[in-house]
Amino acid sequence: MSLYLYNTLTRKKEPFTPLHPPYVGMYVCGPTVYGDPHLGHARAAITFDVLFRYLRYLGYQVRYVRNITDVGHLEGDADEGEDKILKKARLEKVEPIEIAQRYTALYHKAMDALNVLRPSVEPTATGHIAQQIAMIERILQNGYAYEVNGSVYLDVEKYRQDYPYGILSGRNIEELIAGSRELEGQAEKKHPWDFALWKRAEPTHLMQWDSPWGRGFPGWHIECSAMSIHYLGVPFDIHGGGLDLIFPHHEAEIAQAHACFGPEAHHQARFWIHNNLVTIEGQKMSKSLGNFITIEEIFTGRHPKLSRGYPPMALRFLFLQAHYRSTVDFSEEALSAAYKGYLRLMTAFERLKEVRPHTYSSFSVSAWRERVFTALHDDLNTAAALAAFFEQTEDILRLRRQEIFLTPEDLSLLQKTWQEVLIDILGLIPLTQVEWHRWKIAIELLIRLRREARAAKNYSLADLLRDELQNMGVRLLDFPDETLWEMHE
Ligand SMILES: [Zn+2]
Repeated sequence: MSLYLYNTLTRKKEPFTPLHPPYVGMYVCGPTVYGDPHLGHARAAITFDVLFRYLRYLGYQVRYVRNITDVGHLEGDADEGEDKILKKARLEKVEPIEIAQRYTALYHKAMDALNVLRPSVEPTATGHIAQQIAMIERILQNGYAYEVNGSVYLDVEKYRQDYPYGILSGRNIEELIAGSRELEGQAEKKHPWDFALWKRAEPTHLMQWDSPWGRGFPGWHIECSAMSIHYLGVPFDIHGGGLDLIFPHHEAEIAQAHACFGPEAHHQARFWIHNNLVTIEGQKMSKSLGNFITIEEIFTGRHPKLSRGYPPMALRFLFLQAHYRSTVDFSEEALSAAYKGYLRLMTAFERLKEVRPHTYSSFSVSAWRERVFTALHDDLNTAAALAAFFEQTEDILRLRRQEIFLTPEDLSLLQKTWQEVLIDILGLIPLTQVEWHRWKIAIELLIRLRREARAAKNYSLADLLRDELQNMGVRLLDFPDETLWEMHE
């Protein structure tokens, strides 16, 4: 069974094999650190965290590079507008590096809470100016770029004579021409669809470096080509990011790699993988629509669309319940349902530890396990994998009640699969790590008191205790000899 991944470049699912096994090089576009981390950041980070964890589980040695963009990301796609970090620094009257460091720290804090593993390398654009300049020089030498007034642009027309531009996004040059506007500062480009590799800085510009073309700063696209190739070589195995980065960002990266290294660059990466976006109640998430939700607001509940805060695992589970190439429509209802689903699986996981083995098995664990891994191998279908776990929660209750049975080997295979898939690969945090023990002691004490009240025919007290437990989100499962329970929100 081999892992199939959907490659945006070829528009089909392809079996994944690394270029240099057992090593895998993966680069994912990280955040531009000028604002609070939001739902879009969480989705991209969780998508590639699962891929990172799964590749490691499959035995690969993965070098995962995810960058921090701390310069050069302008407000507009066509090299226009202010640098996002500089603008924030100006508004808050602080140095750009203070903005970058503050929002990098907040990003790390949010991702740690969501149990997203840190990448192997996390390079910053400002820390790799030399590599970017070297790449631009080589592109100039190869004749695919031109310098005007201290800025350098990639010559898309020249590039198109040798390579197809638009191969990743499927856009053709006619659409690009129709879509490009005449903007301020565009006049120095030969064609509006040429893009900046290096921009000349005004003397007042706060972030600028020496270059062969005078003082300036790099374009956003060249950062990712330079950092990925510096750490992973070219071509490397996997380049990832959100769907919104396909054009122009990733298309530009591919052009830069060919323009610098020639056809041997092979589209910079073998697999181009893109996660879909998050919508809010059917609408695009944007600051101007007032439906922008940060990760911190999910945790605290301080947002007009939320009635309360939710733990990080609710959000992680919400994304895992969808295929990464489908949109996720966010609403409090969906988040709350995801939290219930997480609690249900995690209580079943705890109950599974209490099951005792038997001399025969009532069902085939290996067939079920194969179904789970078939789903994961099919382009990381976490939604189908989770469905298989949900279907098994009833069986776990019956195993615990000794109505059905498993041999010691089957039981340990079942426990192992729950641990490997839910905890190690999907990155869910088990209840035992979230104050679970204290909860468990209190809940089981209340259940014991209720059973004693019923035995003493004190039904009003028994009902009161049942209602209180219900309010705590605990659903009781009464059997003649014992009462089991599960978290139900
Ligand atoms: Zn990037």
